[in-house]
Amino acid sequence: MNKEELIDRLRSIVGKEYVLTSDMDLLLYGYDASLIRGRADVVVLPDSTDEVSRIMALAHRERIPVIARGSGTNLSGGTIPVRGGIVIHFGRMNRILEIDIPNRTVTVEPGVVTLDLQNLLLSLGFVYAPDPASQKVSTLGGNFGENSGGPHCLKYGVTTNHVLGAEVVLHDGTVIRTGGKSQDIPGYDLTGVLVGSEGTLGVAAKIILRIIRAPEAVKTMLAIYDTIEDAGNTVSAIIAEGIVPATLEMMDQVIMRAVEESVHAGYPLDAAAVLIIELDGMADGMERQAQNIMEICRRHHVREIAMAKDNAERMKLWTGRKGAFGAVTRLKPSYMVCDGTVPRTKLPEVLSKVIESGKKYGLLIGNVFHAGDGNLHPLILFDERNEDERRRVEKATSEILKICADAGGTISGEHGIGVEKLQEMSFVFSENDLNVLREVKKAFDPEGILNPGKVLPPAV
Ligand SMILES: Cc1cc2nc3c(=O)[nH]c(=O)nc-3n(C[C@H](O)[C@H](O)[C@H](O)COP(=O)(O)OP(=O)(O)OC[C@H]3O[C@@H](n4cnc5c(N)ncnc54)[C@H](O)[C@@H]3O)c2cc1C
Repeated sequence: MNKEELIDRLRSIVGKEYVLTSDMDLLLYGYDASLIRGRADVVVLPDSTDEVSRIMALAHRERIPVIARGSGTNLSGGTIPVRGGIVIHFGRMNRILEIDIPNRTVTVEPGVVTLDLQNLLLSLGFVYAPDPASQKVSTLGGNFGENSGGPHCLKYGVTTNHVLGAEVVLHDGTVIRTGGKSQDIPGYDLTGVLVGSEGTLGVAAKIILRIIRAPEAVKTMLAIYDTIEDAGNTVSAIIAEGIVPATLEMMDQVIMRAVEESVHAGYPLDAAAVLIIELDGMADGMERQAQNIMEICRRHHVREIAMAKDNAERMKLWTGRKGAFGAVTRLKPSYMVCDGTVPRTKLPEVLSKVIESGKKYGLLIGNVFHAGDGNLHPLILFDERNEDERRRVEKATSEILKICADAGGTISGEHGIGVEKLQEMSFVFSENDLNVLREVKKAFDPEGILNPGKVLPPAV
């Protein structure tokens, strides 16, 4: 089938205006938040599971790659059409289909923006816990594809812990349902396999999510440190005391400077690091827990610790943290996020190795991350138009991920593998491990049309 015929067939499925083919559109859909670029043959915006199924069946018959896309905010090249093909953009499938309060679930289409769901639920006294910093833009389908995390995932778990089931379109257009609202579904946990599979095993057309009651009370603290080591040691000490705050986020001086220029969140510019520590839950006993945390911070030489006085002050602290990735573009036009995870006790040691790596390659690195999870996000700041600098960034990124893996950690906490970390998969998986993953891929997608070139490095 030639391209014109393909476009005609897609138009007959979704309608003429929902098939994009202009140079400008294909250029735009060749981007995501990574540094990788590609070009789709065509972009299509379905409106229902049935339309997705017909698109997939067509792609399967013609052996054309299919790339699922939410908002394209992933940081690992997950939505880049590296081998061309059909990009399925879920922008029209953005309906919240059901809010089932008695069963504590919601059913959504994949194009729902994460924060839209969260705001609606909050107005009803409920919460969908995973809160990626990109939640204003990211979609629940993208969160499903990446198994996204966020500050509150320390206490509540990442996306996979909140996905109860899904309606999934397979490589040939077959529609299956995995999991569901009831507990203890028998058989293999296909929902678990699909969440985080980056659109390489199937495409979610509906997702059932767990919701929980909004916490009765919240307390947010800002702890200011003169050394990164003290901040890092505080993180392990808090968890070691048996306290699991809702969030334990760390930011270093490079990031605070960028954030202050951008949103004036009130971070101290002369400090080496700050922790944003948030408690949530029952009001009863929370003050005592906050006092315990303050005491632990003091034992680890905190310079100052302050509690947000009201919601406005709390939101200011969070606006700064959640806007950090955007703010760093004031310092350099491009950034690369190394999303490694380490056992939290290794944070101080690994952070100092990250700083050394930056020095070795002559690169500016800022750190803003989910410290409680040991999920580092060294942001390497650079100018991607500078070829030499870009090469140094690639080397430093790989080196930092190796440092994380060698410290007993892994190469992705939440941003996925995509195309950017294919080489680094061998830091944490043996060839035997990878072969099992390849068999899983083959079982779901024998022809290899679902988001090809992602997640799995070619067999050696
Ligand atoms: C400023 C910034 C801050 C960020 N902060 C965080 C953070 O705190 N935590 C975090 O985890 N991530 C974060 N991210 C990364 C990113 O936002 C998340 O990975 C998010 O889940 C991607 O959502 P999206 O809608 O943009 O998905 P896309 O980028 O469009 O897609 C992501 C992946 O999911 C697949 N996919 C999309 N839709 C479907 C579907 N319906 N079925 C199956 N697969 C699908 C895609 O093929 C792709 O592999 C951040 C990114 C930016 C730019």
